[in-house]
Amino acid sequence: MKRTVSICLLRQDLRVHDQPLLHAVHHDKEVTHLLPLYVFDERYLELSGLPGYERDGPEARTRLFGFWRTGVFRARFLTEAVYDLRNTLRSKNSDLLVRFGKMERIVEQVVEALKENGDEIKSVYLQKDFCSEEVAIERRLDSLLSARGITLSLIDAAPLIDARDLPFPVSQTPDVFTPFRKRVEALGPLGRPPLEMPSQLKPFPSLEEGKSYPGYGKDLDSKGVEDVLLPLLTPLQDTFETKYSGSEWPRDLKSAFPYAGGETVALERVNWYFHQGDPPPVSKYKATRNGLLGHEYSTKLSPFLCLGMISPRTVMKSLTDHEDKYGESQNTYWVKFELLWRDYFLYITRKFGTKLFTLGGFEEVTDPKQASIKMQPGWWKGWDQEGSNEQPAVRWMQGRTGVPFIDANMAELRESGFMSNRGRQNVASFLTKDLQVDWRIGAEFFESHLIDYDPTANYGNWQYVGGVGNDPRASRQFNPIKQANDYDPQGTYIKTWLPALHRVPTSHIQCPWVLKPAQRAEFIAEGAYPESPVIEAPNWRPHYHKKGPGKINGNRNERVKNPGPGGPKKGRGEGRTTTDSDGSTSKENRRA
Ligand SMILES: Cc1cc2nc3c(=O)[nH]c(=O)nc-3n(C[C@H](O)[C@H](O)[C@H](O)COP(=O)(O)OP(=O)(O)OC[C@H]3O[C@@H](n4cnc5c(N)ncnc54)[C@H](O)[C@@H]3O)c2cc1C
Repeated sequence: MKRTVSICLLRQDLRVHDQPLLHAVHHDKEVTHLLPLYVFDERYLELSGLPGYERDGPEARTRLFGFWRTGVFRARFLTEAVYDLRNTLRSKNSDLLVRFGKMERIVEQVVEALKENGDEIKSVYLQKDFCSEEVAIERRLDSLLSARGITLSLIDAAPLIDARDLPFPVSQTPDVFTPFRKRVEALGPLGRPPLEMPSQLKPFPSLEEGKSYPGYGKDLDSKGVEDVLLPLLTPLQDTFETKYSGSEWPRDLKSAFPYAGGETVALERVNWYFHQGDPPPVSKYKATRNGLLGHEYSTKLSPFLCLGMISPRTVMKSLTDHEDKYGESQNTYWVKFELLWRDYFLYITRKFGTKLFTLGGFEEVTDPKQASIKMQPGWWKGWDQEGSNEQPAVRWMQGRTGVPFIDANMAELRESGFMSNRGRQNVASFLTKDLQVDWRIGAEFFESHLIDYDPTANYGNWQYVGGVGNDPRASRQFNPIKQANDYDPQGTYIKTWLPALHRVPTSHIQCPWVLKPAQRAEFIAEGAYPESPVIEAPNWRPHYHKKGPGKINGNRNERVKNPGPGGPKKGRGEGRTTTDSDGSTSKENRRA
């Protein structure tokens, strides 16, 4: 009997629950066989460590500053997720074809192999992406498939709120988060329910006896994740800015995100966070979400959401099930609030397109006059990659700024691939506002290192903190000493990630450069930590020996309550200073 096959090309949707691609194929009566395919794409992940792999294009480096595009932590997390998905699919009468190369090329080869086998190919399903590079790949895929009479079906499934349910056309997404949130919240319950998935899928279209699908990876079909991990991760150690904890990259027990990748772990985590214990951990979210240490202070769902190991609708369902039992609360509200930030960045990117990545950011569209000022030579400092390691950008990357709160956060990122939201805001503000370094250096560095990297959330947040995005208070700036006093009053977080400072008394842990030479010699081994900070701002001094109340429940993301008026002005730092409820200060130097 002739087989009719559809291919599900999985990308940032590595799951079988609430999986619209698999769902669509399952309900297509004409299709007899389902071929789930994952391609490790050489443009995103360096594949040269695989034995005999021949790269078609350049190394998988970030666009401007040449970091590995997918660093070691996300590479591991992704690989674990792919093989976890393969196991799950195998338990559902299916399988996952795993290949390495360029996505379009592999699809072409697989299609040819099916045709040669006498099969009919009906459609290729793919989750729609809206970032420019991915859209270009989709276009190429579409043209090669349509030339063969095959449909490319793109399904838009990344956001929580379906685009069809938005109370405005995507092209009119409000520029600022708060109006976006208010209009979406007015819709009522957030998001559609997750899809009901079949327990067994349509059979995998194996080729005739003895034949395997073409493309690099044939020899790995019978192998497991461990066989793939080591060669994949090996070239990624060739970098000056990441610190590995060991040759086999064990998970750092200090990490706030000590989890393996995959849908299995994602579902366990969501269940644990919303349903385990009485009351479950989410019941403290509002009070703990600005935490720095341990896995419990926030949901830790971002890495799973970014690669689609869990769907946002499944998270919302779990959250509303929790509310059915325990009632709605400030805690559950704030989780929804944060999930709307995720949707906001997804939709605002659809509106502003490639401006996500440009120096002038979204502001080039929303306020071209301001943007042109910030694009003039001299506004941002660069990074000479052949230059000294004492350049501010390098000290920031390597966690050697001499400001312990900044360095501890950078150490956490470099050694674990994760950093809290509080930490991200501080290190981003420090790089862009204190050191005045090009925000895209920070964004690309995060792109390389974060386990939970997502282009819209990462570049969107960097623009926001760097003052070129959609923050009505573009000059918002965090005082790292005050922040450390508020969120790490005993210096426990700093000492966890900067063991060189473990003997420094609490009174000086935020500002060790103030220690007298004899004290310094007593508490810090020579050469173990920078003697003076890369920069010292006058407004830090009043906070040097103050200890805050341990303010981990400060306002996190509702960054602007009453955006003040004030026309655009020229230089950095002009205008009246105000303190916002998230602990940052800003100059009222631009239009809200
Ligand atoms: C400079 C900078 C870069 C960032 N880069 C990324 C990134 O690449 N990927 C990413 O997912 N988040 C990014 N964030 C947002 C935020 O820091 C992380 O989503 C959050 O720390 C993840 O931890 P969590 O899952 O425990 O979050 P929770 O506090 O539990 O929040 C729940 C979910 O809401 C979403 N969310 C929360 N805050 C934000 C936010 N500000 N923007 C968008 N979504 C949010 C995430 O999906 C998160 O999982 C960045 C923030 C900053 C300041």
